Amino acid sequence: MKQKMNTRQPAAVFAPDLRLIPGRIRGYLGYMMKLLGITAHPDDEVGAFGGSLLLYRSRGVDTHVLCLTPGQAATNRGQARSDEDLAAIRRAEFAAACKILEVSGAQVLDYPDGGLCRMDFYSVVGDLTRRVRILKPHVILTMGTEGAITGHLDHAMASLFATMAFHWAARTDMYPEHLSEGLEPHRAQKLYYCTASFVLPDRQPVSPPPATAVIDVAQFVETKIRAAQAHQTQAPLMQLFSKTLRRFGAVELFHLAAANRPSTMAPETDLFAGIEDK
Ligand SMILES: [Zn+2]
Repeated sequence: MKQKMNTRQPAAVFAPDLRLIPGRIRGYLGYMMKLLGITAHPDDEVGAFGGSLLLYRSRGVDTHVLCLTPGQAATNRGQARSDEDLAAIRRAEFAAACKILEVSGAQVLDYPDGGLCRMDFYSVVGDLTRRVRILKPHVILTMGTEGAITGHLDHAMASLFATMAFHWAARTDMYPEHLSEGLEPHRAQKLYYCTASFVLPDRQPVSPPPATAVIDVAQFVETKIRAAQAHQTQAPLMQLFSKTLRRFGAVELFHLAAANRPSTMAPETDLFAGIEDK
């Protein structure tokens, strides 16, 4: 019997300038791929992987961000008169930033800012695992276990929760109550931590994971700065942030923390390299 020709052409689809042509291409690789980013505070989504959210959206990927806290313990508080006030303002700023980043699903959960390391590990991971099983992302991005560039403990905890949700969402012996509710185990294919090529002076020590993926986001730097500016309560930080982005923001660095296929480390320039539609 004549074999059906494989019409997929990986070499072509990984071309860096591949853009979604509305109405003609369903999505990246011709399929609707999904990317989920998990962060701790409103504004982390910009600094951690704002350029990659824009890049993969431009390639037809369905992008989502889950932010664990509404950031009510921030030092910069704008006009907010209470924690509740600040939480409400920062939720709105997060929504505005995610709109600029063209994120299709953006949600701020209600965990306490500055308090993630005292939360019940099993139940927070269970919450994230449920969301992973519902959304079924192909790739998950989060911050590094060191706490990303600032070493914030909430970043470290977001990383640990997201890491275990990545692993446990795939297992039939974890949170079986989800399965009795009709959800299915979901095995995301890759987990990345955002990382950096420098550390900040005068901070608690951070040991960032080595970069294994370098993503070219040069064309999105200005949009990323606009998304950062949507976080108006954090304006005092934004001048320095924008300056740093213009200087170093042409690439975003990631560490491949886990993948569904055993492999040795290989440098990557595409977070969706090798991802299959399943
Ligand atoms: Zn943060």
